[in-house]
Amino acid sequence: MPDCIIVGGGAIGLLTARQLYLEGVDVLLLEKGPLGGESSWAGGGIISPLYPWRYDDSVNILAERSKNIYPELTQTLLEESGNDCELINSGLFTVIRDGQDDVLGWARKWSVDASFIDDSGVIHEIEKSVGDSVDKGIWMPDINQVRNPKLVKALKASFDHLSIPYQEQCEVEEIIVENNKVTGVRTKQKTYIADKVIIASGAWSAQFSVTKSSVDVLPVKGQMIMYNGQPDLVKRMVLSEGHYVIPRKDGRILAGSTLEKIGFDKTISSSALDELHRAAVELIPLLSDLEIERQWAGLRPGTEKGIPYICQHDDVEGLYVHAGHFRNGIVLGAASAELMTDIVLNRKPWCDTSPYMMSAQH
Ligand SMILES: Cc1cc2nc3c(=O)[nH]c(=O)nc-3n(C[C@H](O)[C@H](O)[C@H](O)COP(=O)(O)OP(=O)(O)OC[C@H]3O[C@@H](n4cnc5c(N)ncnc54)[C@H](O)[C@@H]3O)c2cc1C
Repeated sequence: MPDCIIVGGGAIGLLTARQLYLEGVDVLLLEKGPLGGESSWAGGGIISPLYPWRYDDSVNILAERSKNIYPELTQTLLEESGNDCELINSGLFTVIRDGQDDVLGWARKWSVDASFIDDSGVIHEIEKSVGDSVDKGIWMPDINQVRNPKLVKALKASFDHLSIPYQEQCEVEEIIVENNKVTGVRTKQKTYIADKVIIASGAWSAQFSVTKSSVDVLPVKGQMIMYNGQPDLVKRMVLSEGHYVIPRKDGRILAGSTLEKIGFDKTISSSALDELHRAAVELIPLLSDLEIERQWAGLRPGTEKGIPYICQHDDVEGLYVHAGHFRNGIVLGAASAELMTDIVLNRKPWCDTSPYMMSAQH
């Protein structure tokens, strides 16, 4: 019998289960599809929130800690399994037209290297392929990206390497609660007994109606397109008005993303393709000559303020919620998993947990 069942094998469930396992907890991760097949596969892998200065401190503190965890974590995953997550330092140029003093104040507060640049010659030295619309903005040279499909693949390989128990194609249909205490979960195949259960089910985290206190996570669809380019054609990540371009190591270039609140719908549309292509070409004109190789959609686990749940459930002993990382599950995930581990092990957490409690979301 496991000590702790983790429901959901996206980045959040994988990182949490792995961390708990490394701290000596008998875990079992249950995933209804393949590991890492949902939002964690579909995302962009930028290791920074977009416009981080617009976020609450509770998001920034997780992001800053994760930034420091990723280099060592990805190196460990490489050594364990030979899987390279392609953590690369692309830097991020964000077009902004005003408000730079506030942004630079934010950067000083969080010790982030950031400068405001409005000289197009300097901008072209940073990224030679940008178009005329990229004429001023914030340059953050230390921002990394990870190739998120490779991250989840490496995490899966780490589970195999460390013999961390997991089951794919295993949907949890019910979290069993008796006298306000969790006793296990029921799947189609069987019932598993455990004293602790963590809901890490991404956009699906609101499905378990165990008590009157609800988990308010909603799916927010994001569509992306991918160009087939050559390595180093574009070197930097560039962002303007919510649209961004991410150059991968092998020359592929991602352009994202839409924000659509239309339920559990992962269909792709030609209107989104047109929108993303138009915005991407405005940022990087040479993209108009490249083939669009692929388009896809993922469902982000959205919360109202973009602050995740990292907490013990309000009403049920032994039940925990680790969900709602919205646009930032990769960047926040590593630090968030450490915090969830502190909470589950009932030890002093590495930061104040109050912003991530259920009561803080309402
Ligand atoms: C287009 C797009 C771009 C993005 N870009 C970035 C970015 O650049 N940087 C960043 O940090 N974040 C980004 N994100 C957000 C990030 O991908 C998510 O925040 C993160 O993947 C959430 O991880 P998760 O594990 O909570 O969810 P998921 O990866 O969706 O995993 C949840 C898992 O739970 C499983 N599950 C659900 N119900 C059950 C059940 N009953 N039983 C068993 N299993 C169940 C699902 O099958 C799924 O595999 C982006 C997302 C999208 C869609």
